[in-house]
Amino acid sequence: MPEPLRGTGVSPGVGAGTVRTVAGEIPEPPAGTAAGDSETERDTALAALEDVAADLEARAERAAAAGNQDGRDVLVAQAMMARDPSLADGVRERTAAGATAARAVYEAFGVYRELLAGAGEYLAARVRDLDDIRDRAVARLLGLPMPGVPESDEPFVLVARDLAPADTAVLDPARVVAFVTEEGGPTSHTAIIARTLGVPAVVALRGATSLADGTRVLVDGAAGTVRVDPSDEEVAAARAAAAARAAALEDAVGPGATRDGHPVPLLANIGGPKDLDAALANGAEGVGLYRTEFLFLDRSAPPDPAEQEEAYRAVLEAFPQGRVVVRTLDAGADKPLAFLPPPGEEPNPALGERGLRMMRRHPDVLAAQLAALARAAAGLTAKLQVMAPMVTDADDTAYFAAACRDAGLEHPGVMIEVPAAALRARDLASEVEFFSIGTNDLAQYACAADRQIGALAALQDPWRPALLDLIAPAADAGVPCGVCGEAAGDPALACVLVGLGVTSLSMSAPSLPLVRTALAHHTLAQCQAAAAAARSARTAAEAREAARRHLPALHTLGL
Ligand code: PEP
Ligand code: MG
Repeated sequence: MPEPLRGTGVSPGVGAGTVRTVAGEIPEPPAGTAAGDSETERDTALAALEDVAADLEARAERAAAAGNQDGRDVLVAQAMMARDPSLADGVRERTAAGATAARAVYEAFGVYRELLAGAGEYLAARVRDLDDIRDRAVARLLGLPMPGVPESDEPFVLVARDLAPADTAVLDPARVVAFVTEEGGPTSHTAIIARTLGVPAVVALRGATSLADGTRVLVDGAAGTVRVDPSDEEVAAARAAAAARAAALEDAVGPGATRDGHPVPLLANIGGPKDLDAALANGAEGVGLYRTEFLFLDRSAPPDPAEQEEAYRAVLEAFPQGRVVVRTLDAGADKPLAFLPPPGEEPNPALGERGLRMMRRHPDVLAAQLAALARAAAGLTAKLQVMAPMVTDADDTAYFAAACRDAGLEHPGVMIEVPAAALRARDLASEVEFFSIGTNDLAQYACAADRQIGALAALQDPWRPALLDLIAPAADAGVPCGVCGEAAGDPALACVLVGLGVTSLSMSAPSLPLVRTALAHHTLAQCQAAAAAARSARTAAEAREAARRHLPALHTLGL
């Protein structure tokens, strides 16, 4: 049997059907001087943007009427982007300088595109939203077919380079049995909307757009695979496995624990109060990583103390019996902030003044954040724990613990993201109450591979035995040690982490049921055996395979 195509599964479930591909790309309009007068070009361009905004609003209404609130919100935000006054100014400037309407629109979007693309992983994902608005406006101006989802009366598998929110938000899940995209990641809109609609989805599948229209495929959104020309037996087997998996996920409720009752609190990674609903719906026992930088982005000064306090309190109030781990501002590198520029030229921003390093340069910003946190927690029952990112050694750790004490915060911790901190975890442990391992950064620094460079993605694989070797001493340093990087959301790796001695796992909300189920079906001894096997392997692939042999229920459960 030929191997299936492999991508990243971002929305579980199985879908079988024929491929329908989203219309091709809109070409870049040529540079050059407009033949007509500049006022006409300007008015035509602005009218096209307004038409696009109105169309997006109409789609938003349709999405709302279909009960798709997430889709509606995305479309409303896109309509606002299309009406952004600075964008219109950019168009006016360019048409006044002689550009055609289409070229002026294209270039005016380019400015925002670059800003977003350089502003970190989460905002980079929004570039797709922006490109979609641009392409719709340019298609109108050039008289090209509108990019978007093909019409079909038959159920089909939607294949695209990447899906735009305007497409996915109004899709009928009864018609579209699965999404497959060439690009996109777990935080792309394709992923978010697929999960909301309950449509199986695989993203980042190389060669997806070469699948010819009409080809029959079987998509497994949990395994991240696409099988071309599956037999009826394969489809039936995949459906049965998906049903067994869905039933197992429904059965796994309550606090995280191994089969023999070893507790492993399962917490959510959030970027603000807007993520609380999903965290609670998926049974999070608290928050293991509150990425506070989203409060600080797109501003020329830090948010005022009252605004910070409110954003922190909303999260603490959501978990009256739980704990909330707030990470202090992680500015720099992939999360640049306008009001905290690096002090000088940084040829390698990931190795520069970021995280706690930046806060040590701006102690007033750190103190204001810690004070806002202390005020937010006053009188509430949730346990507030505060941790610093990008900590290198015991000196950094002692500095942060002292800053927390000065603010009246009792539970300081640090993230283990730098190999030096992992190797000397025992030195750090005497200064703080807990660790949280950021496997995304720890992998980037362990393998000297910038996490923003897609071509180096294989070096970010959290199954690398070298990464497991760095996690082990941190988990064994004598203080509670969680993991809050993406690794915690992989059901098999979550078991391995528990086997290494990790005491809690924090992940994006949709992964919680998967990890809860994986743990509930294995004993602590099995997790330990899986961890030992993974560390004995030579490569990431071998580590994954070796660990899974000790975690037999993963196969039965289709995890
Ligand atoms: C990490 O590095 O693993 C982490 C959780 O932090 P971030 O992804 O925000 O850098
Ligand atoms: Mg990090």
